[in-house]
Amino acid sequence: MSEAAGPASVAVVGGGIAGFSAVRELRRRGYAGTLQLVDPDGLPYDRPPLSKAFLAGSLDRERLQLAPARWYADNGVELLAESVCKLNPGSAESVLTLSSGQEQAADVVLLATGARARRLPLPGMDLPGVLTLRTAGDAGQLRALMGPEARLVILGAGLIGAETAATARGLGAEVTLVDPAELPFERAVGPEMAGYLHGLHAAHGTGYVRGRAVGIAADGRALSVDLEDGRRLTATAVLVAVGGEPVTALAEDAGLEVDGGILVDRAGRTSHPRVFAAGDSARLRGGGSLSGRHFEHWDAARRTGEAAAAGILADAPPAPGADWFWSDRYGVHLEVAGSLSVPGRTILRGAPGPGFMTFRVADDGTLAGVAAVDAGTSVRAARRLIESGRAVDPAALADAGADLRRMARARP
Ligand SMILES: Cc1cc2nc3c(=O)[nH]c(=O)nc-3n(C[C@H](O)[C@H](O)[C@H](O)COP(=O)(O)OP(=O)(O)OC[C@H]3O[C@@H](n4cnc5c(N)ncnc54)[C@H](O)[C@@H]3O)c2cc1C
Repeated sequence: MSEAAGPASVAVVGGGIAGFSAVRELRRRGYAGTLQLVDPDGLPYDRPPLSKAFLAGSLDRERLQLAPARWYADNGVELLAESVCKLNPGSAESVLTLSSGQEQAADVVLLATGARARRLPLPGMDLPGVLTLRTAGDAGQLRALMGPEARLVILGAGLIGAETAATARGLGAEVTLVDPAELPFERAVGPEMAGYLHGLHAAHGTGYVRGRAVGIAADGRALSVDLEDGRRLTATAVLVAVGGEPVTALAEDAGLEVDGGILVDRAGRTSHPRVFAAGDSARLRGGGSLSGRHFEHWDAARRTGEAAAAGILADAPPAPGADWFWSDRYGVHLEVAGSLSVPGRTILRGAPGPGFMTFRVADDGTLAGVAAVDAGTSVRAARRLIESGRAVDPAALADAGADLRRMARARP
């Protein structure tokens, strides 16, 4: 199949960063066929600001959009503001059934249905004021409950819980995080960086309770959260931030292989030749360094969306790069690339605070991962070093005067 040819029509289900990136990449590669993007929310928007600037009220709904409405018209992308209820990849005329009852034909379907916020199997999850955070609507609801009189209890101190705590503090709320971990985020960034990040909560007046919630109850106009050890916390709002679970029902009902995500290869191909998948809803099957890993971050969703676009056109997908994500809390910008948990040794550069970096050097001497605070340029260089697979000099990594960009440029 040539780049510009490809299937006559493609329908993308889900307008998050994965679905949007796939559509953009199809057109960038010269695809000239019919292209539809189906999402009940209509215009695709971005999720990372939902716990940051959008929740804080400093970014409005229009600027949350991944592209303005005219971009879709200019690029011949038809937006359908609907939910897909059924996928029938064996059919020629009605591959998709929409919530309106309309049947939709498409030669190829890309599933980019993302993830939903995981709920806890606790009494009280459905009480008013008990929320999760995945959509712009969720963020709007949470913001409406914030302010100086608010007492927010957040169950889960991972990326979204910690960011929301920081934003809610900025809005004047009293905030308590509850998590069973002694040191949250340790696996993702290593103990040294996790320790620094964790300390920011106390420094900004956010409470941290090590424990596990067993129930939430309405207590007059307030809420109470009961912990396993008998403690009780009171709140005006509770955010349950315990991760996401991939949205796979369409794929499962259609008989596609699903195992903790819709199983795909590096070109986004599922077990059905007419169906591709990308983003948080998908998981790479077998083989390769990412085997079995479900990486729920923005850049992975963008890259897998683009790889699926290549796959749909029967082009080779771009070479996989090192995983990368960022997080913002209390004015601190964290970036992480690769893995900080592989066997090896940790090298520190600088002291906890702006410019602090931790590196994970694998047993074979190559750089496996980096986590850094307010050091985007250095992370980009370290990412190139990770991708190069070259052995690195630990002393140079530890030396804040050694230029990582020069190390990344050096010939092997
Ligand atoms: C609050 C928050 C903060 C985050 N912050 C960061 C961050 O700082 N850094 C980082 O790297 N990552 C962050 N992430 C993670 C990142 O946003 C996700 O990994 C990314 O959005 C995944 O993109 P996606 O397109 O796969 O899925 P999604 O963004 O979940 O999009 C999926 C879309 O599919 C649609 N859909 C689902 N089912 C159907 C159906 N049946 N029919 C039609 N449409 C359907 C949904 O409506 C949704 O719009 C954050 C996520 C959240 C929620």
